[in-house]
Amino acid sequence: MGFIPLTFLFSSYSGKQNELFCYYYEKHAMIFHFDNSYGKLPESFYIPTNPTQVPDPSVLLFNDNLARELDLSPDNMDMEEAAALFSGNKMIPGSFPIAQAYAGHQFGNFTMLGDGRAILLGEHITKAGNRFDIQLKGSGYTAFSRGGDGRATLRAMLREYLISEAMAGLKIPTTRSLAVLKTGAKVYREEVHEGAILTRIASSHIRVGTFEFANRFVPNESSILLDYVIDRHYPDLNLSKSKARDLMEAVMLKQIDLIVQWMRVGFIHGVMNTDNMSIAGETIDYGPCAFMNTYHPETVFSSIDTQGRYAFGNQPSIAQWNIACFAGSLLSMIHEEKEVAIEMAKEVLNSFPAIYQEKWQDMMFKKLGFSKETDLQRRKNSLSTLLDWMTKNKADYTNTFLVLQGDMPMEGIYLQEDFQSWFTNWQDMERGNEEARLKRMRENNPLFIPRNYLVEKALDEACLNDDLRFFKELLDIFTNPYAQNASAASFMKVPDSIDTGYKTFCGT
Ligand code: AMP
Ligand code: MG
Repeated sequence: MGFIPLTFLFSSYSGKQNELFCYYYEKHAMIFHFDNSYGKLPESFYIPTNPTQVPDPSVLLFNDNLARELDLSPDNMDMEEAAALFSGNKMIPGSFPIAQAYAGHQFGNFTMLGDGRAILLGEHITKAGNRFDIQLKGSGYTAFSRGGDGRATLRAMLREYLISEAMAGLKIPTTRSLAVLKTGAKVYREEVHEGAILTRIASSHIRVGTFEFANRFVPNESSILLDYVIDRHYPDLNLSKSKARDLMEAVMLKQIDLIVQWMRVGFIHGVMNTDNMSIAGETIDYGPCAFMNTYHPETVFSSIDTQGRYAFGNQPSIAQWNIACFAGSLLSMIHEEKEVAIEMAKEVLNSFPAIYQEKWQDMMFKKLGFSKETDLQRRKNSLSTLLDWMTKNKADYTNTFLVLQGDMPMEGIYLQEDFQSWFTNWQDMERGNEEARLKRMRENNPLFIPRNYLVEKALDEACLNDDLRFFKELLDIFTNPYAQNASAASFMKVPDSIDTGYKTFCGT
């Protein structure tokens, strides 16, 4: 490996000098351990497709920490080789590139979809035996591209990288981002953009829409998908006597947990179509998502969500709607008699609201630092009074909790009499348990969230000025959102009229 002591000698020098000395090292290619189980499903589930070659690939961002978690040794990586591999210009040994077939309900309407601009290279197995999809997003035409170009813009891929890594930092299940590459080709939207490819890592890319695809187009193969998903994601259900029903319930519970986490941090997914709901319960597809600043359940940022179908406060009921679609695609496997199957599915589905409400309430109680011993009715009243007050006073969702835990100054609207009397009551509720209360709050209330104006500024600087410094600074802060960081205090501030007119796009 050569010159190892040099890392110690020069580790205190600037990045540039380190880079220089890296040339003394032997560069190495990354070694994947592929086992492509999805590619062994019947051929209706995918179409073997190679990524389209790109003219001049270069690695713009590489997630060393994630690479280490995946047992891919990133140190001293050969960047030219990495550019070739993660652009799809060179095949990674052992990969079996495919475009996955899936359908989905988009804004309530059923459509055939599929990977139109993404290619699954295969499943990489870590030393501990964990399986991860390695997918290239923006890698060119597939049979599912329909009218699209199969490409992605640099801005959209940087946005996905930043927000998905922020979600991981917030400890919320999510697909991850391993790399962003520039392709060297232009992508044409309303304006001309630089083209990019994101390497996306996921427990799998199997969606509710994958089951809808199977049920509609290859119903005889639905049970193969069912068994595959149970083996891969819910192996305990192999012992079940009612696998399809129990899978429906397990996926529902995973979704409930996920949505509760979104509600904890003010995350608005923005396009909760059934093709964007992962069977493994990870947040997937960072198109028009955004974080809510001012608290209001009706908050929507997506330019195409004119009816507010995917508004912040609608996310739980939309998740239930999506699970109903999932149930619909499982019915024939839930019970051979349709009426019985419907009754069984309904029973599961009807349990959604109460389970969600209980979990959401528990989560909100943690944000307020309540212990389980404190009177339940008093906790409920305190929570609902606070949420009403926040709505009425246009309070910032994140910072209100930070004011309570003493990490933001109590000033402005928080000095109003109604808030102060609520605050005194809240303090009285955990009198004597302040330390435990603070601990609970700090574990659940992030200090930093990807504020829309910060994200846009970072993307502007990266895409318009070719300057990634601010992007990387934000990435550092957002990936450690619970850590006290005095030097980053300005990133907690909320400028006036923060989101006036702010819109997000299914930017591709
Ligand atoms: P999304 O909005 O990213 O969930 O994508 C919805 C569907 O549109 C999926 O089938 C995508 O593969 C497809 N799609 C999105 N952008 C493009 C593109 N630029 N070219 C081809 N297909 C696309
Ligand atoms: Mg999608």
